Parts: sequence; structure tokens; C-alpha cells
Amino acid sequence: MQYYKLGKSGYNVSRICFGTLTIGPLCANLSLEAGASLIKEAVDLGINFFDTAQQYRTYPYLRKALFGIGEDVIIASKTLATNYDEAAYDIEEARIGLARDKIDIFLLHEQRNIQELHANLPALEALLDAKQNGVIGAVGISTHSSAVAAAVAVMSEIDILFALVNIAGIGINDGSLEDMEAACIAAKKQNIGVYGMKAIGGGALMHQAKSALNWAYSRLYLDSVAVGIKDHAELVTNIAWCEGREATESSKIELYNRQMVFDKDPVCHGCGSCVARCPQGAIKLINGMCQWQKQKCLYCGYCIAACPWFCISFC
Ligand code: SF4
Ligand code: SF4
Repeated sequence: MQYYKLGKSGYNVSRICFGTLTIGPLCANLSLEAGASLIKEAVDLGINFFDTAQQYRTYPYLRKALFGIGEDVIIASKTLATNYDEAAYDIEEARIGLARDKIDIFLLHEQRNIQELHANLPALEALLDAKQNGVIGAVGISTHSSAVAAAVAVMSEIDILFALVNIAGIGINDGSLEDMEAACIAAKKQNIGVYGMKAIGGGALMHQAKSALNWAYSRLYLDSVAVGIKDHAELVTNIAWCEGREATESSKIELYNRQMVFDKDPVCHGCGSCVARCPQGAIKLINGMCQWQKQKCLYCGYCIAACPWFCISFC
């Protein structure tokens, strides 16, 4: 496993960042034992960088797997807070949930456009204060927007950019893949640590997973590439591809045949929360019921967390 310096944060992170959304209740819903065991296996195989978020509900897995490991493993978490107090609360929640005095990296989660980023500056202020107080190590922004990524590149107070970038440009909210890459390169030049998400488009590029991941690993502006992993076969396959080796267990991967399931039990109430939350426009309300459009879906799981009636899940 190769390790790269994550910009001015100073953290040396593995080329693969283990995206934990996939193991948690919004996705594979592994048992606590199974999820923690997978994380421990990843650490044993050289991965030292884990991405989580308040919304993913995966703190318990990380806490169980990493308790006592301390600073050898770097954790990035995120908040959807829109004001100072919410962000401060979310940092404290992460410290308790992860059983860590200091969270290595904390990001404003999925800033969808410049207006949203500006509106959320009070939340960013809370993150900066927490860094000043030694409660978090580095402050960042995660985004699917090339305009936001470009804005981040000139924000001297930002240490980390977590940007959506993949070979096909799938999921970029605005602009082109070239725009997003230019923003990432500009951030990198300012010594901002840059790591990438959705290298295989949340599953949309699974038919070319190996080439899509190799493309991401070849981007020199990315210090690390976050990959959602949910079992042993995916873990060892991703590591083998990252290291340029044959992946003997790749045939066992079944992740990306996933479907989103709407209207389970209880049935959809037609409230529209998932429609508003979906960054891809992949859900429509038709006759008061949700309709999912698989071809647009990034499998980010945001709609699952947004549904107050627990109608949505992966299967
Ligand atoms: S449908 Fe749900 S999982 Fe798919 S892109 Fe929209 S919010 Fe994400
Ligand atoms: S959030 Fe849930 S209840 Fe509301 S429209 Fe979506 S699936 Fe239906």
C-alpha cells in the first residue's frame, strides 16, 4: 500500500480510503461484529484512512474496531450542520461516538452549490474553532459541485477537499469533469489535501470498475481515493487493483447489482423529503408515490436517511 501526504493537514494516508457508508445501516447493514472485523482486516492490510459521516451511522463499527489504535488510523467525518451550534454538537457527538478525544478530519458534508456553502459559513466557523481548540485536526469540505470545489481552492482556512470525481464525470452537479479536475488541481497547488469519492459512480461504472478505479488512482491530484467496501472480497479486490496486482476474488463481488427499494413497509406517504434530498434528481413523486430512476442513482444513501417513514433501503 502506498501512502500520500494529505496536503497541509500533514496526515500520511493510504491510497485507498475505506468508505464506511457501505457497511452501515443505510447500506449492507452488517452486524457490529462483522463490520468491525472488516475494518480491522483493512487496517491489517495497510489501509489507515477511513471516511464516515454523522449521517452514515457507522461510528459504532469504527469505535469497536479501532479502540486503542489511536493516531495510527485517520478518521474523516462530516456534518450536515447549517449553523454553529449544530456543527459543534456534531463534533462532540463524533468524539463520543468514535471514542476519540480528537477527530482527525471534519468536513462540511455535501455542499451542493456556492449559495449553500456561503449559508453554511457559521457551521464552518465551528469547525475552525474546534481545530483551534485541538478538538479536530483538519477542516474540510465535501462536494459534488465543481463550482464549490473551485471556491474551496482559494479558501486558505480549508485543509481538505473531498470531491466527486470519476472517469465519466457521473454525479458532478455542475460543470464538466474537466472543471472538477481543474478545481482539484488548483486546490492541490494551494497545499489542500484532496481525496476523491464515487470513483465508480456509486456503482454506475461497475461494468468497468477496474479501469474506473485505475483512472482514479492515476490522478496525481488525488492523495487518496475513497471506495465503499462491504465485505472481504471487495476489500482484497480493491487493494489488489490499487497495487497493480491480479484480484483473485473479484469474481465474488456482487455489490453493484444493488437496488434501492422504496415503499416497503410502511408504504410511502408522499412527503417528498427524499426527492428534495436526492442530489441526482433520481427520485420523482408520481401520483403521490416515489419512483426511483436507477440510471441516475449514485447510491449515496442520502434518501434513506431523509425518509421519516423508513420506506427506503438497499437490497
Ligand atoms: S436515489 Fe437516493 S441513493 Fe440514489 S442518488 Fe438519490 S439520494 Fe442517492
Ligand atoms: S421520504 Fe419516504 S415517505 Fe417521503 S416521499 Fe420519500 S419514500 Fe415516500
